[in-house]
Amino acid sequence: MRVVSGIQPTGNPHLGNYLGAIKRWAEMQHETECLIFLADLHAITVYNDPAQLAATIREAAATLIACGIDPEKAILFNQARVPAHAELAWLLNCTARVGWLNRMTQFKEKSGKNREGVSVGLYAYPVLQAADVLLYQATHVPIGEDQKQHLELARDIATKFNADYGVELFTLPEPLIGDTAARIMSLRDGAAKMSKSDPSDMSRINLTDDSDTIAQKVRKAKTDPEPLPETLEGLDSRPEAKNLVGIYAALAGRETQEVLSEFAGQGFGAFKPALAELAIEALRPIRARLGELMAHPDEIDRILERGSGQAAMLARPTLAAAYQALGLPIGR
Ligand code: ATP
Ligand code: MG
Repeated sequence: MRVVSGIQPTGNPHLGNYLGAIKRWAEMQHETECLIFLADLHAITVYNDPAQLAATIREAAATLIACGIDPEKAILFNQARVPAHAELAWLLNCTARVGWLNRMTQFKEKSGKNREGVSVGLYAYPVLQAADVLLYQATHVPIGEDQKQHLELARDIATKFNADYGVELFTLPEPLIGDTAARIMSLRDGAAKMSKSDPSDMSRINLTDDSDTIAQKVRKAKTDPEPLPETLEGLDSRPEAKNLVGIYAALAGRETQEVLSEFAGQGFGAFKPALAELAIEALRPIRARLGELMAHPDEIDRILERGSGQAAMLARPTLAAAYQALGLPIGR
């Protein structure tokens, strides 16, 4: 078993990233070999100020460590320091089909009305993502629900490459999607997922938000006037309520039904302060640790350099075998 997963280093990592992905990576690193990367090559699919990017990557790495990723246990690195990601992505661009990419819903969402004006990189992004995991023969990829389609694409690309070139090179990775926290929604819109790239800061709880900000965001979160129901079905047509109850359950490590049993009949006037308290207590130690880590930026750079060296070693045989399969031997 080998686990590979990543996060884009731009924007503010939020509670959705933490509950849907990072927290689970931190748990898995104790059980299995994990490679966790900062997707900086994905970050440049939209314009990012080059003067800021290195600091942003460092901060994202520090955030992962503050959330419990231990660089002594997991291999923590950034994509750009391992050129094999970009190389394999090119090879796989030649296997992936335009029709497959045209079906990617995230591209449609992220390009919006500007489809003709976005970068080719934004369009081809899921192929780089396929390279990210196939390069290491990942068996399992812990992700939020929003990445499910991209992982299916990675499996399709792997299958076609193996079949076209008559090899058993790429392992088909399995998605690991959690239940309660697989899709944390925006605090402003129960139909949109919580995202780093949402222009409204009130839509998400950032891992760096202080206690007052968290309390304020929860207080202002969109809800409805009804009291909480007794059963899960009672949340069906109430996306905002469902989201807040789901966040509570994920933070408390409890089943959604248990949370409902506790709060059934109560309104948000009672539920929101309890949720805010829980979020504040969960994020307090992360924020404190992040502050300590950011005082030593050189140490973070060293961690990323070392992790990238380890990742590059692991990537080499698969990349060489992919070139070989294509009739372009490069040696090992
Ligand atoms: P962006 O808006 O820039 O795409 P993002 O918030 O989607 O940012 P990513 O870096 O794309 O964050 O995703 C990192 C990981 O977090 C992925 O595994 C993704 O599935 C997961 N994730 C992102 N948003 C959520 C969410 N709202 N709920 C649960 N998991 C999420
Ligand atoms: Mg995303």
